[in-house]
Amino acid sequence: MKDRLLFLGPPGAGKGTQAERLCNAHGLNHLSTGDLLRAEVDAKSALGTEAAELMNKGELVSDSLVLAIVKSRMKSQSGGWVLDGFPRNVNQAKALQILLEELDQQIQGVVLLELDEVALVQRLLSRGRTDDNEDVIRHRLEVYAEQTEPLVDYYLNQGLLLRVPASGAIEEIQTHIEDVLS
Ligand code: AMP
Repeated sequence: MKDRLLFLGPPGAGKGTQAERLCNAHGLNHLSTGDLLRAEVDAKSALGTEAAELMNKGELVSDSLVLAIVKSRMKSQSGGWVLDGFPRNVNQAKALQILLEELDQQIQGVVLLELDEVALVQRLLSRGRTDDNEDVIRHRLEVYAEQTEPLVDYYLNQGLLLRVPASGAIEEIQTHIEDVLS
């Protein structure tokens, strides 16, 4: 199975849930920049304080901050990995490419979880995170469309994109992901 992966898709598509399940099932490292940033916020670190305001508005935090987190994690782990919520823009994708060259590793697949906007908003509203109120959700979807969606073509052009419909039962979606990775 491919085991150096990115999970791409709009907020609410289930990237975190599916990345965690896949990693648990196959012993991969799960690296979620959103989770790592929320841990910094909870710990009230300087980095967390800097990130919190932007996260609560649904804006992206700075590339340099996220990259610092990703670099230290990627350098200290061994085995397969799933990056979830990173990269979020083309600049981050290019920085990741440089980092992976340094580490002599390659992305083997980019799983794109696809879901229509009505379903996304419904899922996000039912989740109840502090950045999940309706205005912030709309803004996060706009930020996704403007900054992150260009990565679909970026990875399509590299022959890495694996599309998976993200509606239906969690187990079914997981099976579909495992199929495209096998
Ligand atoms: P997520 O859990 O992936 O939905 O991320 C929650 C929030 O964390 C986002 O709305 C951003 O504010 C921030 N965030 C997570 N990952 C990144 C990233 N790769 N680049 C910039 N901001 C990020």
